[in-house]
Amino acid sequence: MPERLFVCTPSKLGSFADCPRRYRYSYVDRPTPPKGPPWAHNSLGASVHTALKNWYALPTDRRAPGALPSLLKSTWVREGYRDADQERATFQTALQWLESYVATLDPAEEPLGVERVVATKTAVLAFNGRADRIDSRAGDNGAEAVIVDYKTGRSGLDADDARGSMALALYAWAAQRVFRRPCYRVELHHLPTGTVAAHDHTEESLARQVRRAEDTARDIMAAEKAVAAGADPDAEFPPNPGSLCSWCDFRRSCPAGAEAPAKEPWTAVDRLG
Ligand code: SF4
Repeated sequence: MPERLFVCTPSKLGSFADCPRRYRYSYVDRPTPPKGPPWAHNSLGASVHTALKNWYALPTDRRAPGALPSLLKSTWVREGYRDADQERATFQTALQWLESYVATLDPAEEPLGVERVVATKTAVLAFNGRADRIDSRAGDNGAEAVIVDYKTGRSGLDADDARGSMALALYAWAAQRVFRRPCYRVELHHLPTGTVAAHDHTEESLARQVRRAEDTARDIMAAEKAVAAGADPDAEFPPNPGSLCSWCDFRRSCPAGAEAPAKEPWTAVDRLG
């Protein structure tokens, strides 16, 4: 019998690569161990992403900066903030980011996809993922697809982040197959600074990232198989303690994370702007 394909999203693969124990808590253990409270920075990221999605859902003649306050208001996620003042200040900061960002966009341009799911298979994995935006741009050999990922975190990003992102490479690789056109360029659009970190992949660098994803998928399947055969889940999904622990949803459930300094749900949005 051929091995079954490993069905995955970039965040599933990324979760295991970051910390196998966190992967286990998220995807294997049932019931799921208790999570900490919602994070304000996740609320902020979700709000901004949905506002931009809805921006593109407007007819082109209504894609004007004046539409942004109501778009953001209708998608605003309120969880995780310290108080109403902090939430209000963060809303204003997010609105400024959006206003600056849409000023760089051509409202008449229709992307190939907005929050578009792209899916494809390899010999090892069945990949699906939702790309923030897939643009159509003129390239050397005709129209090409470009992967755009919005970022709202505090720290800026550089070309190495775009080059090293397995998620972006998998989106590009899948988009080539879904849209039947070249897709090598991947871009991180950092809204707080208005900067774009980009990388132009080659066939070889995309293939390398796909092999990396397949290796991770094989490691996950091996660990799951071992646990199903009676191995110790703690040994098969070891913790990988580090700076991520303070921001991990499962810090309170994880013996390795108990040492990490606790962050308030709103710490990452404090002093924004
Ligand atoms: S607290 Fe740290 S070690 Fe534990 S699951 Fe989360 S990231 Fe992994």
